[in-house]
Amino acid sequence: MALIKLKHINKQYDDGFVALKNINLKIESGKFYSLLGPSGSGKSTILRIIAGFSHPSQGQVLFDGQDITDLDPSKRQINTVFQNYALFPHLNVFDNVAFGLKIKKMPLRKIKPAVKEALKMVRLSGFANREISELSGGQQQRVAIARAIVNQPKVLLLDESLSALDKRLRKEMQFELRAIQKKLGITFIFVTHDQEEALSMSDQIFVLNNGEIQQSGTPVDIYDEPINDFVARFIGDSNILPGRMIKDYEVEFANQRFKCADAGMRPNEKVEIVIRPEDLDITEPDQGKLVVTAQTQLFLGDHFEIKALDTDENEWLIHSTNACSLNQRLGLYFDPEDIHVMRKHESQADFDARLESYEEESNVQ
Ligand code: ADP
Repeated sequence: MALIKLKHINKQYDDGFVALKNINLKIESGKFYSLLGPSGSGKSTILRIIAGFSHPSQGQVLFDGQDITDLDPSKRQINTVFQNYALFPHLNVFDNVAFGLKIKKMPLRKIKPAVKEALKMVRLSGFANREISELSGGQQQRVAIARAIVNQPKVLLLDESLSALDKRLRKEMQFELRAIQKKLGITFIFVTHDQEEALSMSDQIFVLNNGEIQQSGTPVDIYDEPINDFVARFIGDSNILPGRMIKDYEVEFANQRFKCADAGMRPNEKVEIVIRPEDLDITEPDQGKLVVTAQTQLFLGDHFEIKALDTDENEWLIHSTNACSLNQRLGLYFDPEDIHVMRKHESQADFDARLESYEEESNVQ
């Protein structure tokens, strides 16, 4: 059973702005989830509704099957690590981590081992007496996590928690957060606008835009099979071209027809196709499925980024370990599975409905 379920959640703020539209999602226990989307897409609003700091205008929040929509945040088995950590500067590390337990009047003989264990978990054993001002950004981040896990919640919410850290530290904390989540075995829901961060850390990602879930799935699903042009553009570099579905498993773009792995659309339906730059192999022109002419080339340290035009004037982005020369004619080879066919602006709900009706029609079990 899902640990948390959001059912038909809408959120309209007092000024009339609709920040969330019909959000449905399921969170299971023991997994790492990311809410990924551009700034203003509604990620923090979802987090606040799960935590109980914000009330949905419509819809239900379920926890272990119980309706907690109106339950006070302090009564939820859910804690939040805020973006600015919200540590108390006048308290030392021990007192920051112990704060919530003291408020709950836990006896000190129980608080001490709990704080010790939490600090050990975030690799800050021996820091209990340090002042907050004596800690680096990464250490403050860990104190905030220790404080949030000390009372053993079932779910930890992390709101853009790594955004204040520099790039190297951020990478380290990504590994560390994932390791902490695995060790604790609880659910983490992580908010980020950084697609690489979400792809590298998560078991499952919800991609949001304009208050709607565009797609949910594993990082591989989302990267390899973006559901629409928004997701394709947001998650990494893409070649996106207009095309036409000839019939199941055959698509036309750049004035040619290609075998593909997609089915279930109307014959001749207009679509968009996505091919990732790293899925394109450069060949001799007569061995490629398409012929392009190189326009620019940039060396990016571990690969070349080549821009090229096909005969239909479509621009192609190619990642290659081999250099080419400008105006060189290049063959492009790709497999049918590398072609991802999308309907413009299709959402996860539209996609699910389409798949269901396709499966019913073709009796696919
Ligand atoms: P994200 O976390 O993805 O950046 P938020 O959930 O913080 O997005 O905000 C979603 C949208 O709701 C934004 O357009 C934001 O301006 C708006 N919003 C957030 N809080 C309020 C509020 N209290 N009143 C009105 N609009 C708000």
